[in-house]
Amino acid sequence: MDTHSDEFHQALLDNLHDGVYYVDAKRRINYWNKGAERLTGYSREKMVGCFCFDNLLDHVTEDGKHLCTDGCPLSATMQDAQPREAEVHLRHADGHRVPVLVRTSPIFDDGQKVVGAVEVFSNNQSMFRMRRRVDQLEQDVQRDLLTGLGNRAFLQMKIQSALGEYRVHHIPFGVLFIDIDHFKSVNDTYGHPAGDLVIQNVARTLSAHLRDTDACGRWSGDEFVALLLEVEPVYLHKIADKLRAMVASSIVQSENAEICVTASVGAATAHENDTVESLIERADAQMYSSKLSGRNQVSVAG
Ligand code: GH3
Ligand code: MG
Repeated sequence: MDTHSDEFHQALLDNLHDGVYYVDAKRRINYWNKGAERLTGYSREKMVGCFCFDNLLDHVTEDGKHLCTDGCPLSATMQDAQPREAEVHLRHADGHRVPVLVRTSPIFDDGQKVVGAVEVFSNNQSMFRMRRRVDQLEQDVQRDLLTGLGNRAFLQMKIQSALGEYRVHHIPFGVLFIDIDHFKSVNDTYGHPAGDLVIQNVARTLSAHLRDTDACGRWSGDEFVALLLEVEPVYLHKIADKLRAMVASSIVQSENAEICVTASVGAATAHENDTVESLIERADAQMYSSKLSGRNQVSVAG
C-alpha cells in the first residue's frame, strides 16, 4: 500500500486501538475512527457532522462535572493551542459510563493558525482499577485486622502530622495510652477467642466515645492509643477518665461467660520538641504509673 495515500492513513487510524476524532474550528466532528466507534458505541455515520458540544458523549469529571459546556479540554486546546491530557468519563451509546484518558492536540494551518483539534482517547479502566487497589492497599497497611481500627503505623502517621500542626498553630493536643488490665488471665481463663472478643469490645467502646476529629488505634496486643486534638490538659484527663469508666462498665458476651475488664490509662500533652516516640513514651510511663497505683486508673503527665 502507498504509505502516502489517504487510504493508507485511513487504515492506519482505523487500526489503532485508541479512539481518534477530529473537530474543526467550530468544534464540528469531521473524523471518527473505528477505535472511537468501539469505545463509545457511536458509529462514524452518527458522529461525523455533529458538534462535540452536542453532548452525545457528555464527558464528566470524576466528581460529575459536565465538561462539554464548561471545561472541555478540546475546546481549551483550540483556544490556547496547547496540548492537554485529562482523565474523564464518557457516556457510551448504551448509557453506561466509561473512564477514558483523553489527549488533545491542536491542528494548525500553514500560517500556524489553529483550525481544529484532534482528540485521542483510550479506555482508562485498568488504571482506575489499579488506583482503587492501591488506595485499598494503603488503607489495609494502616488497619488492624482484629478491631478494624488504625494500627501502629496509622497512629504514628497521625501523631506525626499533629505534631507538625502543633509547631505551627500551638493548639494543644494529647495522647492516651490505654492497656487492658490482667488481660493474660482473660486469655488463660476464657481462651484466646474470648480474649479477641474483649479486644474488639474495648476498641468499639473507645472509638464510640471519641470525636470524629480524634483518632484511636491499636498500638499492639492489648494496648490502644488515642490521639485527642484541640484539647487542654484538664480535658485530656476528663476524657481519659470517661474512656476508663466506659471500658470498666462494658460487658463482653463470650460463648459461655460474661467478661468484664478494666484498663489503665496514661495521658500526655504534646510539647514543642516532642517526637512521636517521646510523646508516646510519656503517655506509656503514665499508664505504667496507673498500673502501679492499682490499675483501672488514669495518670496524666505533669
Ligand atoms: P497488665 O495488667 O499488667 O497489663 O497485665 P496483662 O496480663 O494485661 O499483661 P500484658 O498487657 O503484658 O498482656 C498482654 C497479653 O495480650 C499478652 C498476649 O498474650 C495477649 N495478646 C496480645 N495480642 C493478642 C490478641 O490479638 N488476641 C488475644 N486474645 N490476646 C492477645
Ligand atoms: Mg495489659
